[in-house]
Amino acid sequence: MARRDQRYRLPRNWIVIPLIVYTIVFSIISMLIALSMELFSGYMSSLKARTELDNTQYYVLVYDTLCQEDLVVARNHLIENCTYEFFITDKDMNVIYPKDKELTLTKNTDEEEKEKRFSVASIRFSEEETDFEGTGFNFTIGEEVKYYPDKETGYVNISDDTIVPDLMKILSADGLFKDIMVNGGQYVTPYWIAFEVNNGTEKLLFKTYAAYSREDFVYFALYFALTNLIADSVFVILVVNLIRTHKNNRKMRKLVFKDNITGDRNWFWFAMKSKELIKKRKGNTQYAVISLVFVRYRNYVLCHSLDAGEEILRNIVNTIDVYLDKGEICAYSTTSNFPILLKASSEEEVRARLEKIIKSLVILGGNHDFKFQAGVCMIDPKIRKNADIDLLYNNASSARMTLEDSSDNGIAFFGEKLVEDEKWIDKVTERQREAIEAEEFKVYYQPKYDPRTDELMGAEALIRWFSDKMGFVSPGQFIPIFESSGFITEIDDYMIRHVARDQKRWIDEGRKCVPVSVNVSRAHFAETNLADQIRDIVDEEGAPHDLIEIELTESAFFDDKKIMLTTVRKLKEYGFLVSMDDFGSGYSSLNSLKDMPLDILKLDAGFFRSESDDDGRSKIVVSEALQLARKLDMITVAEGVEEKEQVDFLAKEGCSMIQGYFYAKPMPKEEYELRLVAQKAESAPEEKPEET
Ligand code: C2E
Ligand code: CA
Ligand code: CA
Repeated sequence: MARRDQRYRLPRNWIVIPLIVYTIVFSIISMLIALSMELFSGYMSSLKARTELDNTQYYVLVYDTLCQEDLVVARNHLIENCTYEFFITDKDMNVIYPKDKELTLTKNTDEEEKEKRFSVASIRFSEEETDFEGTGFNFTIGEEVKYYPDKETGYVNISDDTIVPDLMKILSADGLFKDIMVNGGQYVTPYWIAFEVNNGTEKLLFKTYAAYSREDFVYFALYFALTNLIADSVFVILVVNLIRTHKNNRKMRKLVFKDNITGDRNWFWFAMKSKELIKKRKGNTQYAVISLVFVRYRNYVLCHSLDAGEEILRNIVNTIDVYLDKGEICAYSTTSNFPILLKASSEEEVRARLEKIIKSLVILGGNHDFKFQAGVCMIDPKIRKNADIDLLYNNASSARMTLEDSSDNGIAFFGEKLVEDEKWIDKVTERQREAIEAEEFKVYYQPKYDPRTDELMGAEALIRWFSDKMGFVSPGQFIPIFESSGFITEIDDYMIRHVARDQKRWIDEGRKCVPVSVNVSRAHFAETNLADQIRDIVDEEGAPHDLIEIELTESAFFDDKKIMLTTVRKLKEYGFLVSMDDFGSGYSSLNSLKDMPLDILKLDAGFFRSESDDDGRSKIVVSEALQLARKLDMITVAEGVEEKEQVDFLAKEGCSMIQGYFYAKPMPKEEYELRLVAQKAESAPEEKPEET
């Protein structure tokens, strides 16, 4: 079941989740690229800034030393000869020198001043710890250094602990051409370095420049463009691919669910949808699975055309659809097979609805005699989740197949009885071969007596099965199964062989033998050389042909008349007796009597059942039948005669033989041998049971 369940699980057609995942992943990648850009440009800036730091630091050291020594003249000299634009301020950054100029740096807020230590591209300085962690730079500086962006240009962003050139600003037309293009084609961006000097009472501020060459920008630009291009291309490719796969999947789904003939839904769709409906059904809604078949569809196609046939199939689906409510479905599966899922609380309800549907479908046929058969499997209300739709449909189909013998409209329900019947059929079919090989089948003989003289005139060989595994099995329990499986032909041959063998032995033992009739199934008559087969078997056993009678059941005469006639003629030619069994049980076979040169007419037991003898009508029919047979030169046998009164009546009407419990039940051959010896019926018929 678990594996069958897998069958109806289509791979999920995800799109939203992968899209979200892709977007998140690519946002992260873009952020990483931007971050790496910042790190990269920061790193480059830091290299440049280092030089400036080195240079300015020299002035700071000298200035500070001169301050300590109170060498004002030397200090002033130094200041005047400094190559940097610089300011001396007090600790609050109020300009001390040069008085006439304005300090153009952007001050940090007080909070930031206190908290932040500035460094160059992650090179961190502190008063005590001066070693750079990681890349080998080594500064020795006692003062605290701070950086400030230049107020006027602002091309450098001084963030937490890095100097980062604001590339966009630098590259913007305004910045690029206005005032930063100096020094032989280099782009320079001003920023300020501030040192605390003179015991923290003053600050030295130098205007320095981060210089970038054209190549720097080309590298930046290339790096940025390339990484983004790669990332964006991958993103676009993945998304396009995802959308394409999604579209294809949708197309595939449609194809998987579509039936090409009716253009409607197929079995796969039906199974998936049914499972879903059964699972989600509300409260106590009960469902029934139906297998509806358009009987003799193939014949319709043969007589008309495939196109016409398929047109009908389409109309059938459409007609059924009209009768379906919400939550009910129908599809087209294999040839002329329509699975339907109906809501129904009882078998009666399903029957009523199906009858309506079938009625409309029959009308579709117009002048054609359309027939429909349906098998129904009511779904246990407890089944909700794991509904095994294959099994349920199989059950419905099994129920439908019980109707197959008839070609009329019909509805059959699946139930325990059907399961048991099927199991029995399976058991019998499974055992048949070993049973015949182990000779589990025994021949029983039922004598036939002349009602006027009580003389033994013949017998019918009837099969009995004493199974090792199943005990005694009566013919009614296995003959129909063998008939439909075709195994009956072997059984018939087996019986003919054993009867011929017995007859031969009895002759050899010097007994007076009477003809024994053997039943030959109508299924056997499809074989054109049946008469030869029978003759060969009898000859192999060495029995005289006139001691073997072949019984053909009345209904067999409705099959292929030509083959039947040929076979009957041949059998007669070979010297066998031929009888028509069960005369009067089915449709009138008077026509066959006219055509077939039969020897014996066996009146069906039905004539002699007490309930059928109303107002003596049966008697009239029997009497007439006997007269007719006599006129046709046929011997007559009355079957199933149990009453003395019936025997007397038949004797009076000139019936040749009686085969019935009145005289004898079918008996094992040892017992029959005693009858052969006696030749005459005992005056009082025995009442003992036939067999175990
Ligand atoms: P059938 O050929 O019509 O055989 C006569 C059946 O009527 C036998 O049932 C027999 O026991 C029963 N019968 C005879 N007289 C009386 C009577 O007075 N009262 C009642 N109630 N029954 C009576 P059986 O042996 O159970 O066979 C049933 C059917 O099975 C046969 O009907 C025949 O169609 C089939 N059959 C039996 N043996 C063979 C066989 O070897 N080959 C084939 N192909 N069919 C066989
Ligand atoms: Ca018979
Ligand atoms: Ca019969």
